[in-house]
Order: sequence, then C-alpha cells, then structure tokens
Amino acid sequence: MDIPISMAPSTTPARRAQATEAVHAGREDLAALGLHAPPIDLSTTYPSYDSRGEAERIDSFAATGARLDGPPVYARLDNPTTARFETALARLEGTASAVAFASGMAALTAVLLARASMGLRHVVAVRPLYGCSDHLLGAGLLGTEVTWTDPAGIAEAIRPDTGLVIVETPANPTLAEVDIRAVAHSCGSVPLLVDNTFATPILQRPVEHGARIVLHSATKYLGGHGDVMGGVVACDEEFAARLRQVRFATGGVLHPMAGYLLLRGLATLPVRVRAASANAAELARRLSADPRIARVHYPELGGAMVSFEVYGDPHGVISAVRLITPAVSLGSVDTLIQHPASISHRIVDEGDRQSSGVGDRLLRMSVGLEDVEDLWADLCQALSGEEPVRQAVSAQPARTAARTVPESRPAGR
Ligand SMILES: *Cc1c(COP(=O)(O)O)cnc(C)c1O
Repeated sequence: MDIPISMAPSTTPARRAQATEAVHAGREDLAALGLHAPPIDLSTTYPSYDSRGEAERIDSFAATGARLDGPPVYARLDNPTTARFETALARLEGTASAVAFASGMAALTAVLLARASMGLRHVVAVRPLYGCSDHLLGAGLLGTEVTWTDPAGIAEAIRPDTGLVIVETPANPTLAEVDIRAVAHSCGSVPLLVDNTFATPILQRPVEHGARIVLHSATKYLGGHGDVMGGVVACDEEFAARLRQVRFATGGVLHPMAGYLLLRGLATLPVRVRAASANAAELARRLSADPRIARVHYPELGGAMVSFEVYGDPHGVISAVRLITPAVSLGSVDTLIQHPASISHRIVDEGDRQSSGVGDRLLRMSVGLEDVEDLWADLCQALSGEEPVRQAVSAQPARTAARTVPESRPAGR
C-alpha cells in the first residue's frame, strides 16, 4: 500500500537543512500510514473499474506529462516507491521536480530526446565528460549534433537550434572544474545541464548557480553501495513533465527495488560524502608529496575522487592493489581504482581523450570509507612494493588539501 504520488507536494514542509532532508524527504506520509520503512510497490498494473476515468487520466498525462492523480495505471507511467526517491532527490538539489531512469545513460538519453523533440538537436559540450556521455553525443546515435568547446567558447558555439549546453564538474576522470555561474551566464536562454555525479548535492547544488538541469548517475554516490543502477534528472516541473512523457514512450524506467535502494542511499549521503572526502583529501595530500607521482588532481570543491598520474606503469598499480578494488565505477563505500584510458574512457577517440587530459598515465580513484592508513598502505605497496611511508593524518579540512599539483620534479624525499 502506498499513497498517490500527487499528494506529496501538499505535504511538502518548509525548507530544512540538507542532513534533515536526506533522512526525511520522500517519507513525510509514512507515519500517517502507520509505517516506518517505505513500502516497496512492485505492481506493474493497477486495477480500475472506471475505464472512462482512466481514459481521462491518460489523455491528461499525454497532454501535460504531469503526474497522475491516484494510482499509476501501469508501471511505465510512474511508480510510488520510485516517486519517493524523486521527491527526496529534488529536495536535496533544490529543484521543483526530479525524474528517475534505469541508468545515468538512460537519463541523458531522455534529456537529449526531450530537446530534440522540440527541434533542438544541437548540443554544446565541454570535455572531458564521462566516456559514454562523450560517445552518446559524438556518435550521432540519437541524431545529436555536438560542438565541443571550452567554457570560454560556449557563447560563440550556441546556434538557433542549440537545445542544451552540457558540462561535468568536477569532470570524469580529470576532476577539472568549471565555474557554473560563469558558464550559465554564457548560455543565455539555452538550458545548462550540469552532470553533478561527482560532487553530489552535498558539495554542490548547480541550480543555485544558474544551471537549469542537473543529471546524476545514481549508480554512484546516491546509491552508494555498488549494488544499484539508476539515473535521475533534477529540473523544473515543465521540463520534468516532458521527461516523464519521454520515459513513458521509451521505457527507460527505474525498477521500484532500485528506487527503494536509492532512497535508502540518500539517507546516508551527507555522512558518506563527508567521511570519504576527508579520506580523499588526505590521500591527495600524501600523493602530492610522493616522488613516484607526477601529478595529483583534486578539486577545489573537495570530494571523494582523486586522480593521479604516475611516473611508472599505471597497469602495474592496478594489478598490485589488494585492499583497493581494481574496478570501474565509483561512489561506493569501498575504494575503487581504474585506468580511464583502458576502461571508463576507452570508447572516446584516442586523440580526443589525450587532448582533454585523459593521458595514459592517469589513474582514477574513488575513495571509500576504509581507514585512511590502510588505504595509504595499500597504495604505497601497489606503487612500488615498498613499505608505506607513515605520515601523521592531516587535521585540515578537505578543501584546503592538495590542489592539482603541476608536473614537478620528484622532490628530494
Ligand atoms: C557513470 C557515469 C555516467 C553514466 O551513468 P550510468 O549509471 O553508468 O549509466 C554519467 N556521468 C558520469 C559523470 C558518470 O560517472
């Protein structure tokens, strides 16, 4: 049993702190239902003895894309458990609405189709982007035409048929950052989409800086435990309505079990992001001082991702880690490391990869919640097989830790 999704807005309370929203948003009706944990509604269909009424509801959805009053009719239209996750994510991002999909790529696909359906097939994008996002835009699979540029070139790249400007910040895998406010200004009336997968709404809320659409691979930090795949778009209600119509017609829906797990993941998002970011900042600091490392990339914003370039063989590091898992993806409770040029960005043309900073010596690490000394010990042995250099844990907050450290001579230590 679950209550109709459309009742949610009327119970929306005044804005509360993010830590409070993380554990309460999307759950406000539970006590009145006599429940504590959210129910999982696995129904694919919903009985109705009133087909005239259903006809009206379907007409209304087709015309407006607004959420149906009452049960969803069919699970491809909506699902009450997934709707709880959407409500909670919208609250955390500070948007009116959010629409969930089967994966991050399904979410990006729906955004591109929604804009193309308005005759706006041209996209302006800044590299680097996640490898498959780059591929989806560039390969023309959806008839998208893309102009690649840097942030300074956005205004000039915009045409009358431009439907979207896309940036990732911090970007996958170099952690390069863009100034969202400045870029949003360059976009004029064209909506700016920010892929906020790496920062999460805990570190950065792009709509507060002028972005109109926020995209997440929910597979990463929002789920947070490496066991659920999903995607979500946070935006205003007008665009959300369009996305629901695209989702209904193309079918990239999030499974209700995934919706349940993602809502559960959001509850611990603030705590996980803060703890993992503290570990990452400390590892970035130690790597920056390590003579085996040519360059460390760590965002000004902070966060739990660290990328670094080694002087030695990056494949040797991947094969030597023992506590850290050599695997693609990110945002889980445990630490993962991968070689972007071989895996996450393999699908990007080599020249484009190189010119956007994704070199052959770059490794990308998603730092988890293990003890930082155990992580450092594993990294050290993987880098050289030598005993780890023990260092005092820095008391500094994440954002004052290591920056992108320029290619420096190995210091005398
Ligand atoms: C993983 C990822 C995606 C794609 O998400 P999936 O859930 O794997 O489809 C998009 N953007 C970024 C930044 C990612 O890391």
